Amino acid sequence: MKIIIVGTVAGGASCAARLRRLDQTTEILMVERGPYVSSANCGLPYHIGGVIEKESSLPVANENTFRNQFVINVRTRCEVIGIAPEMKTVRLRDVATGEVTTEAHDKLVLSPGTSTIRPPQPGIALPGIDLPGIFEVRTVPDARVIRDRFLWRRGGLDRRQREDAPAAWQRRLQKKSTCTRTRTPATTRARGRSR
Ligand SMILES: Cc1cc2nc3c(=O)[nH]c(=O)nc-3n(C[C@H](O)[C@H](O)[C@H](O)COP(=O)(O)OP(=O)(O)OC[C@H]3O[C@@H](n4cnc5c(N)ncnc54)[C@H](O)[C@@H]3O)c2cc1C
Repeated sequence: MKIIIVGTVAGGASCAARLRRLDQTTEILMVERGPYVSSANCGLPYHIGGVIEKESSLPVANENTFRNQFVINVRTRCEVIGIAPEMKTVRLRDVATGEVTTEAHDKLVLSPGTSTIRPPQPGIALPGIDLPGIFEVRTVPDARVIRDRFLWRRGGLDRRQREDAPAAWQRRLQKKSTCTRTRTPATTRARGRSR
């Protein structure tokens, strides 16, 4: 019996670990489009905010964990681009090289999650959604993009990286650097209450 699981985060990784506990002999292959296996999405906001300082702390497990502890094969940066149910095969595309291969299976588990809705959608308009500084945060690479943009405040970007930032963001940086931030009475009161 060979099982292919598409997606390796909460749903896919839990399914793979459970299948292995139920059956020691099944061949299991997990396929993940992104670079990480089983990362802690709930930690992404904390990483962006600097509470979780290292990106390397976000992944819960890696390919070796699954290989060594559960005897489960994992292919990251590998995307399922087609399913042939009658043939019981999937088409896989190596994200880095573009190479397409076909893999057979007995059972297929789909756990591809979802994707961010970015209006305009039918009935939903959100003016300004395409402005620089509007981000989405679902993955570790998404969080990296946000951190890279904002790390200048902590001196994390060198001069060349700052110059590469989009023009609109540059203007905002210049505006901010000439402002002196003052604490308003309302902010002071709110901080006092929270103590
Ligand atoms: C910022 C943030 C904070 C969150 N905080 C919490 C929290 O505090 N508590 C909580 O309970 N939940 C939280 N969640 C929600 C939780 O992360 C999700 O419910 C959970 O990750 C869903 O798991 P999943 O496996 O269904 O899908 P996903 O996590 O979306 O994983 C699906 C995976 O499938 C891969 N994939 C998709 N299509 C293909 C394809 N064709 N080929 C190969 N791979 C593919 C994707 O790359 C992705 O890695 C948070 C989510 C986010 C984004």
